[in-house]
Amino acid sequence: MLSIIGSTGSIGRSTIEVARHLGLDVASLAANRNVKLIEQQARLVKPRVVALLDENAARELKTALADTDTHVLSGAEGVNEAAQAGATLVAAASGIAGLAPVLAGIASGSRIALANKETLVAAGKLVMSYDADIIPVDSEHSAIFQCIQTSVTPSSQLKLILTCSGGPYRGATPEELENATLERTLRHPKWNMGAKITVDSATLMNKGLEFIEAMRLFDVAPSQIRVVIHPECVIHSAVEFPDGATIAQLGSADMRVPIAYAITYPKRLPGLSEPFDFFSTGLTFEPPRRDVFRCLALAELCAERDYVNGTNECCVLNAANEAAVAAYLNNKLSFARIPCIIEEALEKFSGVRADSYHEIVVLDETVRSFICL
Ligand code: MG
Repeated sequence: MLSIIGSTGSIGRSTIEVARHLGLDVASLAANRNVKLIEQQARLVKPRVVALLDENAARELKTALADTDTHVLSGAEGVNEAAQAGATLVAAASGIAGLAPVLAGIASGSRIALANKETLVAAGKLVMSYDADIIPVDSEHSAIFQCIQTSVTPSSQLKLILTCSGGPYRGATPEELENATLERTLRHPKWNMGAKITVDSATLMNKGLEFIEAMRLFDVAPSQIRVVIHPECVIHSAVEFPDGATIAQLGSADMRVPIAYAITYPKRLPGLSEPFDFFSTGLTFEPPRRDVFRCLALAELCAERDYVNGTNECCVLNAANEAAVAAYLNNKLSFARIPCIIEEALEKFSGVRADSYHEIVVLDETVRSFICL
């Protein structure tokens, strides 16, 4: 039985496809406010519970689903309750809003198929302090997780190679980024995703967040993680072992593969995706340009500081980035200003600590009100 939080987003929609393909029951669905889509989804998979974070939208949904047996909940409490309905929680809400449902799922002993990277970025230490069954859905982390399945090498001796498409501005000059239009930013060359993560992929903040996510999830030092630009997106990531062997995971750019793996692990069942065609493309690699894509450098810096000092500057980075990206999507901020806003926040909140859920939520809100775009 699955709970899908963030069911109307890109990962949520793919999860429903996977669940139907595998013949799995869906216990609950939750989303922010998309009444129309969640109603369709509820009629399709017939969950026991659906929840919408937005109270007004939830009222509308209740009327829409009045002829069904599905129970409609609302608000943060409703979403948390939905997160506890199934034995496996697919945590696919976007942003810091995804943290509370993950903690609810952990508390109820669910397996967490984790697609919300902000959870590990802002609250990585907290989330990993529980002895929870967390299987990553993010394609890079799923790849690394798969590569170390048979490994008996301690994590301190591994090197993680995090591959990155380079995004729509690969090879661009700082001047070109200055004039980056929203339209071009949202046209990702390889992956079709939600708006927030697509902007993050264009600034390379997505890879920065994944860097932090990898540090927490696999318990490694920042110096053990290397970002490599790989435009073909065939290798989803790799692990280098102390004997010099590197194991990589290859496949097509289809999120239904890591989603299914996280749900069925350790089993592998017949999937929906075509396997990689070795004759379709060559594989190329290049180093990232941190002078052009400053968001990546800022994320690596925060990871290093938090790792060494026990601080939570990654939470500041995440909140500032979410606020800056929202402003960019609303045409209130230029693309080139995104890293500047994050830098200002990091300067203001340098050395900050936040360990508990409450402290993390307060810090997140404080950073957002400081930025106030
Ligand atoms: Mg990814």
